[in-house]
Amino acid sequence: MTKLVVLTEGQYSVDQSKKFIPFDPILHDPKDRPASIFVHVQPFLLQTEHDLLLFDTGLGYANFSGELVIHEAIKNAGFDPSDVTKVLMSHLHFDHAGGMVYEKQGSTYLSFPNATYFIQQEELNFALTHTTQSYRLAPLEFLRRSDALVLLDGNGTIDGYIDYEITGGHCPFHQVFKVHTANEIYFFGGDVLPEAMQVVRRLIAKYDFDGRKAMELRNQFAAQAVQENWNCLMYHDRQNAVTKFEIIADAITIKKPF
Ligand SMILES: [Zn+2]
Repeated sequence: MTKLVVLTEGQYSVDQSKKFIPFDPILHDPKDRPASIFVHVQPFLLQTEHDLLLFDTGLGYANFSGELVIHEAIKNAGFDPSDVTKVLMSHLHFDHAGGMVYEKQGSTYLSFPNATYFIQQEELNFALTHTTQSYRLAPLEFLRRSDALVLLDGNGTIDGYIDYEITGGHCPFHQVFKVHTANEIYFFGGDVLPEAMQVVRRLIAKYDFDGRKAMELRNQFAAQAVQENWNCLMYHDRQNAVTKFEIIADAITIKKPF
């Protein structure tokens, strides 16, 4: 009944300019991209009994024929973008929010025309008043005027089975989602839990708003993931896109295979 699809939007290098530049390991040499980090971008689609959920929306890049990469990926998985019923946004940095809308011949459209978009109210306010390199104003302004937008206020539950919780850490009003299905729990930690190895390495990342808090949150969520056997959806981790954790010799480690 439940079906999970990883919607790969590709691999990118990111330097201080915070631009996401496509990186193909066959064509490109990482040495040509100094002071860069290399990340994958991958929203997730989860079919539940009640909904077709989308977790974050990617950069919104188009393929060679002008179609959004995320639309193509959804179709390849046997769904249509118009089937998505809920878009759950961890935060509004453009590598997560760029695909919420798209432009065609000078007009802007919702990428998921039949979906409700769930955004944390304080995150939207923050993004609209802090247009740094990390936020893009135009899609946010468009969505703000749309009937599709539902603003969440603090922590709570949507339709009795999707928990949301403000975490901060990566950005001040970042939120995470926990979805309860009949047999499994799916946890989307956005950029508070973006790569499985970060839990193991316990690093403080410079790109986080509050690096220490983000690290502590990662470990806290990973510990809960062990206890409740969560499927953790990792937005920037191709190798461990869906991760379960376990404890071996008092340390949290990536459980595989499962
Ligand atoms: Zn990100």
